Amino acid sequence: MNILLLGSGGREHAFAWKIKQSKLCTNLYIAPGNAGTLQLGENVDISANDFNAIRKLCIKKKIDLVFVGPEEPLVNGIYDYFKNDKQLRKIIIIGPSREAAQLEGSKSFAKAFMQRHNIPTAAYQQFDATNYATGLEYVRNHSLPIVLKADGLAAGKGVLICLNHIEAMSEYELIIQNAKFGDAGRKVVVEEFLSGVELSVFVLTDGKNYVLFPEAKDYKRIGESDTGLNTGGMGAISPVPFAGKTFMDKVINQIIEPTIAGLQKENLVYKGFIFFGLIKVDEEPVVIEYNCRMGDPESEVVLLRLQNDLVELFIAAAEERLDKENIIIDPRSAATIMAVSGGYPGQYEKGKVIDFRYLDNPDSKKHVDADGGVVVFQAGTKKLNNDTVTDGGRVLAVSALGDTLAEAIELSKEILNQIHFDYMHYRKDIGYEFIK
Ligand code: AMP
Repeated sequence: MNILLLGSGGREHAFAWKIKQSKLCTNLYIAPGNAGTLQLGENVDISANDFNAIRKLCIKKKIDLVFVGPEEPLVNGIYDYFKNDKQLRKIIIIGPSREAAQLEGSKSFAKAFMQRHNIPTAAYQQFDATNYATGLEYVRNHSLPIVLKADGLAAGKGVLICLNHIEAMSEYELIIQNAKFGDAGRKVVVEEFLSGVELSVFVLTDGKNYVLFPEAKDYKRIGESDTGLNTGGMGAISPVPFAGKTFMDKVINQIIEPTIAGLQKENLVYKGFIFFGLIKVDEEPVVIEYNCRMGDPESEVVLLRLQNDLVELFIAAAEERLDKENIIIDPRSAATIMAVSGGYPGQYEKGKVIDFRYLDNPDSKKHVDADGGVVVFQAGTKKLNNDTVTDGGRVLAVSALGDTLAEAIELSKEILNQIHFDYMHYRKDIGYEFIK
């Protein structure tokens, strides 16, 4: 099969790595890709949001399957774009329809969906310009902290946790009156604050059936012990030690199955990944958010543990026969640690040459070869002449398997210690709460 993968981050390098291993993959194209995906297929300099250019590419390269990494093209309706086009209709496209992608694209859609299907989520009210004053009063009287969520996609920045009423009321005003998160975000979900530990659970669904992928936990803050600013993710681990069988059974029965049943009942076409952002409150799982695609950096640990042929699973999803598939998971632990540019998530410089020194060390290099347990996924990188240079905030996701979580983390750090670029930074404490 000729396969096209859309996106350019660490997630996309991980998917390219996994897809390339499939016996069904003949040619792999990545648009736009990065210096890592370049080692696995042909990068094509097209934005994942440029549907017309993607259409031309699909026809020219006789693409059979498209995998969409990021949420934006999905929320903008790339699935429907393919299905409504005579020449593209037969191509398998992994992702939800535009309507179903609102599970991520609209907080208010997701909350109402969960309410309709009795899926546990934080209590909430929703406001916009039409009931602005009622909302302001609601915020004024809400218990602290107050969670405000702008409705549309806001590049991961649309959730505000306000510690006092003045801040909450001012943010509420900025979102609705001043369109802080754009016109689509002029609607606010005001939500009860939940306290607990978070984890992410992933399924691939065909809209009727699903297969459960390994769960993961990511680390969002820039600083050690989860301090400082939020980032796109500084690392992740899988499995998650507190997600035992009893808890996961609750996730399946109270969250995953009602979600899939809800999609079916509402005729929402969905052939792709659902990412459940969960919080464990006491012993109960509660949904914080849905995403309509896989996570980054969670993909870098999840795919390391997945032993199935991923393309076979994609075809089964397209043909609505995921009930016949079994997921095979490596019992080992996986960890990924992000090397980021100095200054990230604030301002940082690009174009720093990356020196992969472990390649000169036979002892380390053997870990990075084929089954050696380590894969250095690239995120914000590009090729410049013969060098690989930094091209974003999150640069590399050094991912490793180990018999224990501690071993996976150690191995990942061992390789990170042999990578250098100016002002490189990484968190040394990924997985800290689970390691004695
Ligand atoms: P989201 O963009 O929905 O993933 O939210 C970003 C982050 O905000 C989540 O990962 C949580 O850490 C936090 N968050 C969102 N909603 C709540 C809530 N109701 N209670 C506590 N924390 C929340």
